[in-house]
Amino acid sequence: MNDVADMQTTQEAAERIRVQGLVQGVGFRPTVWRLARRYGLRGSVANDGQGVSIHVCGPVAALDGFAAALLREAPPLARIDRIEREPTAVLPQHPDFRILGSHATTVSTGVVPDAAACPECVQEVFDPFARRYRYPFTNCTRCGPRLSIIEAIPYDRATTTMRAFAMCPQCRAEYVDPADRRFHAQPIACHACGPRAWLERADGAPVAVDAFTMLDDVDAVCTLLQRGHIVAIKGLGGFQLACDACNEAAVARLRRLKRRSRKPFALMARDVETVRRYCVVTEGEEALLLSPAGPIVVLDATGPERVAESVAPGVKTLGFMLPNTPLHHLMLRRMNRPIVLTSGNRSDEPQCIDNAEARARLGGIAEYFLMHNRDVARRVDDSVVREMAGAPRVLRRGRGYAPAPLSLAPGFSAAPAVLAMGGELKNAFCLLRDGRAIVSHHMGDLEDALTYADYRNCVERYLKLFEHEPRIVAVDCHPEYLSRKWGQELSARWGASLLEVQHHHAHIAACLAENAFPLEGGPVIGVALDGLGFGTDGTLWGGEFLLADYRECKRLGTFKPVAMPGGEQAVYEPWRNTYAHLMAEMGWARFAMNYAELDLYRFLEAKPRRLLDRMISRGINSPLASSCGRLFDAVAAAAGVCRERVTYEGEAAVALEALVDERTLKEEDELLAYPFAIPRLKSAHLPYVEPLAMWQALLGDLLLGTPVPVIAARFHKGLAIVIARMVDTLSREAGGDKPVRTVALSGGVFQNRVLLEQVTARLKAIGFEVLTHRHVPPNDGGLALGQAAVAAARSLTNSQ
Ligand SMILES: [Zn+2]
Ligand SMILES: [Zn+2]
Repeated sequence: MNDVADMQTTQEAAERIRVQGLVQGVGFRPTVWRLARRYGLRGSVANDGQGVSIHVCGPVAALDGFAAALLREAPPLARIDRIEREPTAVLPQHPDFRILGSHATTVSTGVVPDAAACPECVQEVFDPFARRYRYPFTNCTRCGPRLSIIEAIPYDRATTTMRAFAMCPQCRAEYVDPADRRFHAQPIACHACGPRAWLERADGAPVAVDAFTMLDDVDAVCTLLQRGHIVAIKGLGGFQLACDACNEAAVARLRRLKRRSRKPFALMARDVETVRRYCVVTEGEEALLLSPAGPIVVLDATGPERVAESVAPGVKTLGFMLPNTPLHHLMLRRMNRPIVLTSGNRSDEPQCIDNAEARARLGGIAEYFLMHNRDVARRVDDSVVREMAGAPRVLRRGRGYAPAPLSLAPGFSAAPAVLAMGGELKNAFCLLRDGRAIVSHHMGDLEDALTYADYRNCVERYLKLFEHEPRIVAVDCHPEYLSRKWGQELSARWGASLLEVQHHHAHIAACLAENAFPLEGGPVIGVALDGLGFGTDGTLWGGEFLLADYRECKRLGTFKPVAMPGGEQAVYEPWRNTYAHLMAEMGWARFAMNYAELDLYRFLEAKPRRLLDRMISRGINSPLASSCGRLFDAVAAAAGVCRERVTYEGEAAVALEALVDERTLKEEDELLAYPFAIPRLKSAHLPYVEPLAMWQALLGDLLLGTPVPVIAARFHKGLAIVIARMVDTLSREAGGDKPVRTVALSGGVFQNRVLLEQVTARLKAIGFEVLTHRHVPPNDGGLALGQAAVAAARSLTNSQ
């Protein structure tokens, strides 16, 4: 017996090990090499079309140890989806362990997102004795640019915008040494051979270097910011505009010149300690700030110090990020307070990425430019993440996250290639193939002509980059969406089939898809709450309760459809929604009789009511919308929050959430929450959320002079209660003998932390499994993923 055991431990075996996931361009092969040496194995490792392929031989126990260590010690940017081990009879030819060159790589291996400078590189940059001391483009396999510099696959220096820079002998030596952190780090560079940064004045005059003591041009930016200047900085994914966040005059000037009214600015600080002076940072939030993705993290602005009022007017949160490139680290080293760091553009246009374009378009805003000579292959915006209901949630998916693929449930792997075009606002598109979905980086609002041009361009470049040939193009039903029009054109050009997916069905499917909900998992109750989406009956929807799976969806319930007097205008003038709601619930006479003391009454009385009444009654430019977003507008304006005008959609809801009194939310008697009823619509016999009682309670509170934070809390709580009640009722009705126990929450309204947490907790308390968004935004930024999943699921049914 002992002989056999001995034989097994000493006996040599050979294996072919296949690793799939995000394993290329992240320093995976050197890790394999290091581990193979540790376990005394012979063989080789190579990149191939599916990922990484390893051929090893050695003692059986060592092979097991090696495989386990691969999982445990994978490089920080890698993501292992699958490891397959297969015994082979053939022993590897090599007497030692080798890294082989890449075979022609296809793209199922994934393009890796850009990653924030790693601690080792940062340390090097600040080490006066290191070769890369103060070098702003320092990177290694664990960090640095990827998506923003890549032009084609395979990911190789020659296919990136780094190809303009020939490696010096020292960099080359690091590049070919498997033991080096920079082994095959494609953007490897140093002072001697890499890109360089320089300072320019917007007016073209020379920079007066002696005007300040400084180490170099990057360091000079810090002095300029401290003196109140606005500086345009060429970041990783495009130009950014920066100024001192504590200098009210500078921030206000930036707002005016950028033509950005009240939307909060993002901030950057040199370290977490600086952030803590302005915000409370939880452990989870700190981890997010320090993560390789390095997103903007939305934090509660309740620290001891304040930034300038103009940074985020009327909002109780601040969006902070830490330096994500050595250039930003160097720039902020001496800055002991936060800076505003916002995308380099005017209002809703796309960010500039090219030096000449930046000089032309940002010259009127910035006084100085920090330029460099490495091209940005594609504009990539910063990502925005917020911790809500106990998990980080991506609200804008850009730098650091895109284009890492999302793995769908196994059933999807047989679906044909799909391109989903996304929505109109906050657009992102999606490629689906082999059971994986690649959601593009955030594109923006297609209503802007430059953004639309950029979008069309990016769609084609992603298709090329990922060698993706769509057989189906999925679009929204809205006849006026530009994404739909472009999708129609592309499908005609390629002879691909075109599939329409209803807006709110796509929202729910996106939520199912990112949770890898099984393809045959049965229907769920989908709660899709947003601003506006095109409904199957041709009217505007936006507060929907659906019975949905990936293929089909049925509208089970809704919010009360109320007119939007002035159409689009009602989105930007919240009081119009208040007026429409009050007229729908009680009419002017009753409102005047009971609430004439209110300041709201005097406000509305001064408006052109005749005209509005006529528009509403005749349905002129006053479409009915069952929108939860518009209900938020109506309530906010009634309470005196953002009553007259908002500058971006959803601003009133953001302001109302910011006001919510936490104690009312947690401690107050539930009976004081504003009540909603659930009657049935006469026309469609659909149950709907009826807000009459809520309005009476709210107006009553206004008469009593109840503080607005208490009103805001009572509204949020009441809304959460009625949503949970509606779900409970519908799940029983819909399921018959098999009640539906899973709920998916989606739509832009669920960016509201208070509502998301209230609804989730209430649904869980009555036994529901609640699916929510984490990796794609609940807003229209996640729409394309849902469209793609619906298209894939339907095609799988048809082919059966
Ligand atoms: Zn690094
Ligand atoms: Zn070099």
